[in-house]
Amino acid sequence: MCCVMPPASPEDLKARPPVVTVMGHVDHGKTSLLDAIRSADVASGEAGGITQHIGAYQVHINKGTITFLDTPGHEAFTAMRSRGAKVTDIVILVVSATDGVMPQTVEAIDHAKEARVPIIVAVNKIDLPGANPQKIRQDLAAKGLVPEEWGGKNVFVDLSAKKRINIDKLLESVLLQAEILELKANPDRPAVGTVVESKMDKKRGAVATVLIQKGSAKVGDSFVMGLSGGKIKALVGDSGARIELAGPSMAVEILGLTGQMPQAGDTFNVVENERMSREIIEKRNRIAREEALAHKHHVSLLNVKASHLKELPIIIKADVSGSVEVLKDSLEKLSTPEISVRVIHAGLGNASESDVLLATASNAIMLLFHVDIDARAKETADKNGIEVRPYQIIYDLTADVKASLEGLLEPETVDVTVGKVEIRQEFKIRHARIAGCQVMEGKAVRGAKIKLMRGGQPVGEGRLEVLKRFKDEAKEVEKGLECGVTLQGVEWQLGDSFEVLVQEKRVRRLTQNA
Ligand code: GDP
Repeated sequence: MCCVMPPASPEDLKARPPVVTVMGHVDHGKTSLLDAIRSADVASGEAGGITQHIGAYQVHINKGTITFLDTPGHEAFTAMRSRGAKVTDIVILVVSATDGVMPQTVEAIDHAKEARVPIIVAVNKIDLPGANPQKIRQDLAAKGLVPEEWGGKNVFVDLSAKKRINIDKLLESVLLQAEILELKANPDRPAVGTVVESKMDKKRGAVATVLIQKGSAKVGDSFVMGLSGGKIKALVGDSGARIELAGPSMAVEILGLTGQMPQAGDTFNVVENERMSREIIEKRNRIAREEALAHKHHVSLLNVKASHLKELPIIIKADVSGSVEVLKDSLEKLSTPEISVRVIHAGLGNASESDVLLATASNAIMLLFHVDIDARAKETADKNGIEVRPYQIIYDLTADVKASLEGLLEPETVDVTVGKVEIRQEFKIRHARIAGCQVMEGKAVRGAKIKLMRGGQPVGEGRLEVLKRFKDEAKEVEKGLECGVTLQGVEWQLGDSFEVLVQEKRVRRLTQNA
């Protein structure tokens, strides 16, 4: 596409600083740790420690430089990954030595593991009397993070963000881990990076913070980022000073954006000239429109067999930990030589936005057992085409997954009653007969199929054509409210009632010997 470059030869590659994200349960000290790390920066320390917030910053210690993403937490991390961006080289998992392993600690581990990013554990708050760093090691070892001193792969550093104890030790561990990873990039090529933040600034217009991953960007370069482009007017470094050039692992604010605001996770590319930048954006706009029309392709229980996947990633949410364990075990046992079932995350409570983002990033389906999905998470799931299936019975859940592996699931559309409505009055407006109604249960839905009932017996089926609340057209009217409707395809009388039916897509299991 835009910048077809020959692969970098080994001698062009130079060591680059690691990029780190801090994760952990709320209140375990992520923000405090980032603050403590910032004050360990020798460069900004000398300048009075004033750094502005631009979404990422570099810390220089005697032994090297580290880039920190300043949006802590696994949600932001996975949101970027769900847009195809991989920016983090190392995760620091903060665990409070007094509180221990908590639900979001486990989530963070699963999200980092799924992205195959090494984890360094910061056992925080060791200054407090109840601190028990050994217990944290035991609990995390049970989750697969085994301390190096026990023969495992994970470095554990006991520290206090508040009292600034062992911060240097943590930073040195990060640099050691980075050495093992042999992180390199060619600085002498047009820049490629990822947007980590964007905002509208009153004085400066649209501004994006970009993490440069390869090459270098300089003032005057033409670029594209997401659906935005232009010519770099200015580069602002993490100290707030204008700079001329930004190389690998540096975070910079870029000014001079035109077009749509880019989003975190969009790629940034320096291109040959402005004409090329415009052409690429036109093309991307076209593709974005087409993608919006065609539903995004994502794994579904219905297409597992046909898509020849080697692995089916699943996220389970359930009401009690007993069920989580049983479901995880029974699902993983369904693996066959052709396809393995892998539970990438199993947790308690309703499905959240972060679960949906993980599903998007990992092409997973979400199975809910006796729990629901949060409203905002549902919206994201619909938008991203993520399959979310609720279950009440363990057997149904495992049987559906088994059938899906064998290609023995079929879609079926069923009518589900979502409301009951009584007809209480009759009006005539011009030639139309309007039924004055009250919603007794559930809701009335415009355009829905209805089943007309008289004396407890069904007497016909039709459609709810017009639905009004007072004078206004309504899409839905809830239980307890009055509404005016016209019904198509049935002859109703005063005193009749009707059921409101909407179609729901479900799956049906076929029998094996079919
Ligand atoms: P976050 O939600 O993970 O970002 O956690 P914060 O950094 O906001 O910290 C939560 C609380 O723990 C705050 O009241 C901090 O002052 C406190 N805290 C953080 N680190 C330490 C520490 O090392 N020792 C003690 N005693 N308190 C800490």
